Amino acid sequence: MIRLEFEIAVFLYLLIAIFGFLTPWLVFSKTRVRAKRSAQLESIWQCSICTYIYVDSKNKILSICPRCGSYNEREGGGH
Ligand SMILES: [Zn+2]
Repeated sequence: MIRLEFEIAVFLYLLIAIFGFLTPWLVFSKTRVRAKRSAQLESIWQCSICTYIYVDSKNKILSICPRCGSYNEREGGGH
């Protein structure tokens, strides 16, 4: 009986250790994906003049449309 209890204790300890490592890793990987996705969305622009969709990762607030050359301002902020 003592040996069985020891094995259960080891099993529980391992379980806690795995969850202890796994949970922060899962949370971290999820937030990382979310941050990456929002960064990609931020670099996508749609021209307000010709409705042309293009990618500009350099500019965050103001971007120039490569098709018609008009200035596009990031509306709102926070989505
Ligand atoms: Zn345009």
